[in-house]
Amino acid sequence: MVFYRNFFNFFVIFYFRMENSIGFCFDLDGTLINTTEIGDKIEKEIYKKFNLKIDDKTEREIEELTYEILQRENRNNLGLKLMWEIFKKLDLNFFQRIKALLISSKIFKEELKKIKLFDGVKEVFRFLDEKGIPYSIATTSSQKEVDDRLSKFPDLYAKLQEKIITRTNVQHLKPDPESIIKASKIMKLPLNRVIMVGDMHHDIMMGKKAGTLTIAVLTGIFSKAEILKYEPDFIIDSVAKIPKILPEIIHKLSFN
Ligand SMILES: [Mg+2]
Repeated sequence: MVFYRNFFNFFVIFYFRMENSIGFCFDLDGTLINTTEIGDKIEKEIYKKFNLKIDDKTEREIEELTYEILQRENRNNLGLKLMWEIFKKLDLNFFQRIKALLISSKIFKEELKKIKLFDGVKEVFRFLDEKGIPYSIATTSSQKEVDDRLSKFPDLYAKLQEKIITRTNVQHLKPDPESIIKASKIMKLPLNRVIMVGDMHHDIMMGKKAGTLTIAVLTGIFSKAEILKYEPDFIIDSVAKIPKILPEIIHKLSFN
């Protein structure tokens, strides 16, 4: 009995020590905010505008093309490049493509005003605050984009001040580990005590390169089957599941 109690005490102490020495690094778009859904709206509008009928085959080809373009390392204006290629695939001529780009950028601006935090995001940050678990953000969006987006959520934005690494702060974008290394320094934690949470392969690849634990969320662009190829340590529906799996995360980290 004494042995079990001691073991239990040891476990409890160990668990709470671990809780105090881990930190989460979150991606932003598709992980905390629903900016990635804007693409679906643009697609619908363009199909309507140019009276496009898309069969399953073209739909699949566009999905593959999107996936292929998103894997490219150079991501300056990637959104524009992606749309241009999709419009080509849809057989739009040069002038139609220009028009489609203008329509897309208008929709993008309109939709950006309506962006939301995913369900449970506020609660997760409250949970981490209560536990004293540090957090940071590593995003490929620019400082201005981040300011524009997050200023809509003042409470969260206030919590995240000085904790956000944007593309403006680094020389090398994800999947290069530069941003997560900076994030770990902000949290004053070694990389093997950091958990990278993101919706895309670049988030997972970056975490793995840096030696962090990785969690993929399915709120962004990638399906479960697509993200599975990058072998994240966990795949969860959304960040809202983090409190529930925290014991498993700690268990896994303790063997890192
Ligand atoms: Mg993302």
